[in-house]
Amino acid sequence: MPLSPLGFASGAAGGAQGAMAAGGARGRAGRGRSVPGRAVAAIGGVPSGSLRFRVVFVWCRAMLPLLRRALGAAASWRGTRRCSLGACCSYRLRNALHPLWQSPLSIPGGSRQSPINIQWRDSVYDPFLKPLKISYDPTTCLHIWNNGYSFLVEFDDSTDRSIIVGGPLENQYRLKQFHFHWGAINEWGSEHTVDSKFYPAELHLVHWNAVVYPSFEEAVMEGNGLAVIGVFLKLGAHHEGLQTLVDALPAVKHKDTVIEFDVFDPSCLIPSCPDYWTYAGSLTTPPLTESVTWIIKKKPIEVDENQLEAFRMLLFTSDGEEEKRMVDNFRPLQPLMNRTVRSSFQSSHVLNMEAQHSDHAQQIRP
Ligand SMILES: [Zn+2]
Repeated sequence: MPLSPLGFASGAAGGAQGAMAAGGARGRAGRGRSVPGRAVAAIGGVPSGSLRFRVVFVWCRAMLPLLRRALGAAASWRGTRRCSLGACCSYRLRNALHPLWQSPLSIPGGSRQSPINIQWRDSVYDPFLKPLKISYDPTTCLHIWNNGYSFLVEFDDSTDRSIIVGGPLENQYRLKQFHFHWGAINEWGSEHTVDSKFYPAELHLVHWNAVVYPSFEEAVMEGNGLAVIGVFLKLGAHHEGLQTLVDALPAVKHKDTVIEFDVFDPSCLIPSCPDYWTYAGSLTTPPLTESVTWIIKKKPIEVDENQLEAFRMLLFTSDGEEEKRMVDNFRPLQPLMNRTVRSSFQSSHVLNMEAQHSDHAQQIRP
């Protein structure tokens, strides 16, 4: 059975079923319980981005000795993603592609897929973008669920108690769940990249448009249905807010385990800096629907090595199966195509960002 997406899988009944819908059916804490609505429906055709990656991958493998001499640290991997490691074709990096992305997946239209590389200089400052307002009620937090691809922290979205409004959004959106993507090692793991640099992990807070749509499942299928806040994680100081979550992770080590996690305010995971990029994109897990207004925070949050290691101690596999560590659960980059990435901040920040990138680049070089 294909690995589960992040609660967006379509079940036998047809429409996409979200993690919270499944969570409601599961009830409270349970271990080793199977979760309904987990079959991946969107298996079929060949996405151009994936195909291109595979071609690049095969070519890269064959040309490894030449590449090392000729390109050194500038070799590339994963399609358009530039690699500054100088070891793009290493055994570990070749295997960083999750099995979910090694099989052909059909995509609906494929003109606004995610994730993307955010090119700082190509993003356009939009003075009409408003500040994003976030208002979360910690008591709407319900569960943590290991769904076999990531762990989801799920919220009660039956009312407007945890919402975001403003930014690029015309309506207010309700918080449904959040989850992370991360790498086996610190050199990669984020889904989006900034100027082709990637972070060790990325947080996604998933919201749906409850003003226009009656349910999350319907919102998933519509162009303005979802709003996802993306936050990069970088290696640095210990993060107190994240630690509450990290402490709970051993209880959801195996796929299909769910535990109660009933008071948590995820706004502690969102940097206070108001700057963000925004673009029209898609889910990065099946069914890959093009329903997401992405809001990518410019500033990362800092977490320490032990906290990232706790993520990596989770398993893709169920209790009793041969253990497979939950790492590299990110989708490869997708082409920007005819899209503009807008920024809420002016380009005078470029110099600051370049300085930050310089630091980051030093951090990720071996
Ligand atoms: Zn995600």
